[in-house]
Amino acid sequence: MPKVALTTLGCKVNQFETETMEGLFKQKGYEIVPFEETADFYVINTCSVTSLGDRKSRQIIRRAQRQNEQAIIAVCGCYSQVHPEEIKAIEGVRVVLGTKERSQIVELVEQAAREDGIIDEVGNIMEARDFEDIPLYDMPQRTRAFLKIEDGCQNFCSYCIIPYARGPVKSRHLDKIHAEAKKLVAAGFKEIVLTGIHLGAYGRDLAGEVTLADACREVLKVEGLKRLRLGSLESIELSPDLFELIRSDERFCAHLHLPLQAGSDSVLKDMNRHYDTAEFARLIEHVEREVPGVAVSTDIIVGFPGETEEQFQQGLAFVAAMNFSRMHVFPYSRRSGTPAAERKDQIPDPVKKERAHRMQELAVRKTQEFHQQFLGKTLRVLFETDTDGITDGLTDNYIRVYTDDAVVCGDLYEVELERLYRDGVWGKVTEKVK
Ligand code: SF4
Repeated sequence: MPKVALTTLGCKVNQFETETMEGLFKQKGYEIVPFEETADFYVINTCSVTSLGDRKSRQIIRRAQRQNEQAIIAVCGCYSQVHPEEIKAIEGVRVVLGTKERSQIVELVEQAAREDGIIDEVGNIMEARDFEDIPLYDMPQRTRAFLKIEDGCQNFCSYCIIPYARGPVKSRHLDKIHAEAKKLVAAGFKEIVLTGIHLGAYGRDLAGEVTLADACREVLKVEGLKRLRLGSLESIELSPDLFELIRSDERFCAHLHLPLQAGSDSVLKDMNRHYDTAEFARLIEHVEREVPGVAVSTDIIVGFPGETEEQFQQGLAFVAAMNFSRMHVFPYSRRSGTPAAERKDQIPDPVKKERAHRMQELAVRKTQEFHQQFLGKTLRVLFETDTDGITDGLTDNYIRVYTDDAVVCGDLYEVELERLYRDGVWGKVTEKVK
């Protein structure tokens, strides 16, 4: 049987999509091999969220070509959607897809094997209206299952290339979500993470008044599910209905990832974000009051065009006053085709780097402060990975817990949190959750 190797760059949505493509190959009897091995077909699911994503994508395509010069290389994802010409110019690339038509991946690589030339299937993503529904064929090799329920974004934050790579909002139908969740729970997954490009916009394109809360309810209907977690969500899209669900259903993880992006109101305005810091702070305060122990993680971009030292300092002060459990800090990356990339007042790279460093130091401190609040307490941990006798997993409020007690990955345990350890906490298992 021909061998196929697939790899993913970027976000959880891409990871999920690669798993669905892998399933399509398996259904046709192909052998899946690790990406480092010689294969007949390579599939690379690219990322374009930063210039680093573009560069890494190109490097991986070249690596595949070196591994087997005769192989058929297929490239899909955000980078190839936005810049198909750059992808086609790389030696060895025979199939180029964007962020749709992935359901045709097997037929397209087979066609490329029969014919000469490059197959270019990158269409106009702005015209895509339907969620590309590819059911999972077999189960991912992880403890937590990601379930993609939405694609696309129409927010057009001024720095972001994603709306051009993913097109308008496209939501998965509720019955399909329920069926996929049921499959995952039957396969033994205790936790499902709902993901999307603009998750809070779920349902806007569907008939009726379908919302993200409805999608969550569909998943929560599945018997045997122990945890439901949401992927990244815009703070202003946390509806009362959804909030009530988080508060009232104990299977809902007390963890929200709400991207702040900047702690200065004028920078937020320039970014075309539709809230200010006061509104964000008010919302977090409300969440923290109503959901005890909740973890709020966030993303911050530093060095946005025109960001002054004073605005950056405002950002530092705002973040310092918040109880963030985790922060992902990104230096602004210029993405051609976006309004921010056109600005003349770009911040020099060394300044961006230095600001990222200062913000990152604060991020480490904030995480430790958050973890400290839970030392001495007993929390439920879903264990995921075992490395050299140390197993780690996550609490429902997203604290990574390490232990050398005997545990089984994929199972839930009550764990007493003892001390800070690496990026999380060291714990002692007290009992297994039935
Ligand atoms: S909400 Fe903004 S940052 Fe997020 S994908 Fe849409 S445009 Fe990009």
